[in-house]
Amino acid sequence: MVELLPAWCFNCRRFISRPCRSPSQYLCSTCYGKLPFIDGPTCTHCGLEHGSGSCSNSWAKDIESFHGIFYYQDPIHAWIVNLKYSAGLFAGRILRGFVNTWFTENTAAIRSLDAVLPVPIHPLRLRQRGFNQTALLLKSQRVLPLKTGLLKKQRFTSQQAGLTGLQRRDNIKGSFKATPSLHSKNVLLFDDVCTTGQTLGEICSCLKKVGVGQIHILTLSRSM
Ligand SMILES: [Zn+2]
Ligand SMILES: [Zn+2]
Repeated sequence: MVELLPAWCFNCRRFISRPCRSPSQYLCSTCYGKLPFIDGPTCTHCGLEHGSGSCSNSWAKDIESFHGIFYYQDPIHAWIVNLKYSAGLFAGRILRGFVNTWFTENTAAIRSLDAVLPVPIHPLRLRQRGFNQTALLLKSQRVLPLKTGLLKKQRFTSQQAGLTGLQRRDNIKGSFKATPSLHSKNVLLFDDVCTTGQTLGEICSCLKKVGVGQIHILTLSRSM
């Protein structure tokens, strides 16, 4: 099968000539080289760059390992916003490529886990948006079974953006439900963005209530 390469860089809209190709077929090498990959050491529990020493983020106490791919900066920020609020499926395709690469590069470390769980959205939000961006970003990785029905958002909440850490915690409290079948399972929980960590923390306590085993986290982007 002949693969048709896109002629134009999604980011700068310039023609991608052969010498300007990058590991992402949709970006030129210049734009690829400027992507905000997380490259420094980060905390195993909360994913922040707070140096050595114990983690003081109580929401992260049950997290076995935390992995972030990008800093939550442009153009990643803009592409995620485009995907979530304007159904920018092409941006989604590019981002999914980076998620796939992460899974391929980390296969040895995660292959013994039982499942990858996308952070769910409420059914009303799903109807509005037409898709759950976290499930969409995971759908072409083949390393772990993707389980979309085991964790549910049972209460509709206002958007977390614009709220402080404490407001976020109150806004999200009790809004998720995990099925008992997750008991003793080791899982990778995936979200597109982690800012204060309150959503992930709330899901972790919900998972612990049903007796889940290890919780590992992957976020496409992490604000520091
Ligand atoms: Zn470019
Ligand atoms: Zn930490």
